[in-house]
Amino acid sequence: MMLMMLWAMALKKEPFPSRMRGLFDTHCHLFMEPLSRDTGGVLTRAFAAGVERILIPSVSTGNWDACAELALLPGISCALGVHPWWADEGLEVEELRNKLIEADASAIGEIGLDWKTEVPRRKQYTIFEQQLELASSMDLPVILHCRNAFEEMLELLEKHPVRGVIHAWSRDPQLMKRFLKAGLHISFGGAITRREAKKACESARQVPNDRFVIETDSPSIGLAGVPSGKSEPGHVAEIARVMAEIRGEDISDLQEAAWENSVTLFGEIS
Ligand SMILES: [Zn+2]
Repeated sequence: MMLMMLWAMALKKEPFPSRMRGLFDTHCHLFMEPLSRDTGGVLTRAFAAGVERILIPSVSTGNWDACAELALLPGISCALGVHPWWADEGLEVEELRNKLIEADASAIGEIGLDWKTEVPRRKQYTIFEQQLELASSMDLPVILHCRNAFEEMLELLEKHPVRGVIHAWSRDPQLMKRFLKAGLHISFGGAITRREAKKACESARQVPNDRFVIETDSPSIGLAGVPSGKSEPGHVAEIARVMAEIRGEDISDLQEAAWENSVTLFGEIS
């Protein structure tokens, strides 16, 4: 608790007087273990790495309250929704609408389609469409999760146009351009730190300067030198460094663009 207060105080003092923008981790599951066992330590390390904002997407109704509570901390906001892995739970749309308002959520997420899971596709479709419609009606951005269902997702996005990000992008630039055309931003994470991830790196090189954000998806996705399950929001600094290198840009320009794009999508928080 003490460390969390220090994080709050440090942020209030505008600790980065240099021209360098702070970092915005747009996808961190801070409520999940092992991060939840040491929230203060995790935030202190994130702050030391230059992180000023963190967006926490929920995955199921069971963690909406935990996300909303963490979002009370300065610099932190949440996205609420039901992830396709939990589509079996179903969704009360009005309950989600009320929770989003109550928590002053920045987005609906994470939501999407995942054909690699056992969860019946029909159920995934139902709750995904419900949440896309809700995003339109509330004018909120979405955080999309997609595995092996890109054609189906593009079809639904055409039917229900929304703004938001497709997260943890690891595919080629041709497919990326179709999501850009659909109005989405592209979120890059640990994949681009791996040399063998040629498609992801090529997408990171080609993505327009005003259409990307960065994320850790911590603790779930690892990066070069950090195993999956062990990543933290502070690792977004390494993702920014690698992305600047791939694009042949100054790190300060990269961080500036990533920050601006994130705030444009997810808004300022007080
Ligand atoms: Zn995630």
